[in-house]
Amino acid sequence: MSRYRKAPKGPVIFRIALAVVLVGACVGGLVFALQNTNRLPLSASSAQQPESSSSAASTAVSSSTPESSEPPVQKPVSITILGAGDDLIHDTIYKQASQRAGGKGFDFTPVYARIADDIKNADISVVNQETVLASKVAPLSGYPRFNSPVELGDELVNLGFDVINHANNHVLDQNQKGLAATLDYWATKPSVKVIGAYRNDADMENIRIVEAKGIKTAHIGITEMTNGLYLPKDSPYRIIYADNTQLIERLIKKAKTMADVVVISVH
Ligand SMILES: [Zn+2]
Repeated sequence: MSRYRKAPKGPVIFRIALAVVLVGACVGGLVFALQNTNRLPLSASSAQQPESSSSAASTAVSSSTPESSEPPVQKPVSITILGAGDDLIHDTIYKQASQRAGGKGFDFTPVYARIADDIKNADISVVNQETVLASKVAPLSGYPRFNSPVELGDELVNLGFDVINHANNHVLDQNQKGLAATLDYWATKPSVKVIGAYRNDADMENIRIVEAKGIKTAHIGITEMTNGLYLPKDSPYRIIYADNTQLIERLIKKAKTMADVVVISVH
């Protein structure tokens, strides 16, 4: 676990605490691009106060200066972003979940029990969902080409994840058909934002924004590769590969105009 604290230049303060929970085997990461050009209005008087990064210091300054009509300095705003992953569902895991449910569906609850509170307590929770949820169109499968039951997605929603990243090396394990089925499943869960795999260019350009305590965060998912599997050349679907630096730069620049913080899930 690591924590980030960023002292801002303006009076509106972001304190972003990042908690990373690892539950799988692949290597991924979250990258934060903090933007100092706050979207909230800055008042001229408070912007001139060098002590504005500390509310305690600001209070002392305002009480000792005659200009008591100055507007009060805004209190720091703090959010926690939790990153979890990789959620890599081997066949032993879904077989256990099936047994637990007595063969009627799947019970994944115990798998996440020890991190459930952390996920709920974070203001924004992001998970790298390493396997596709294409059980409606292809048989369940473990290593090496995974396919997980949609009930796993239900569990992620119940846990309180806000962002689901599918940009990883297993996203094409069940080919385009599996990716399409996965996105179709997530379309029935409007409480979560899905990143890293997109239906088409317009979907990819629609950068996902999640807001907490007035702080807007933008989310983009990038993967290095997809285990030698590729979308058909004429496919409308989109995956952002790490070597497409021009696209990534452009999307990040766009995201910065839309949000206070840009969160990149890199796999
Ligand atoms: Zn992976």
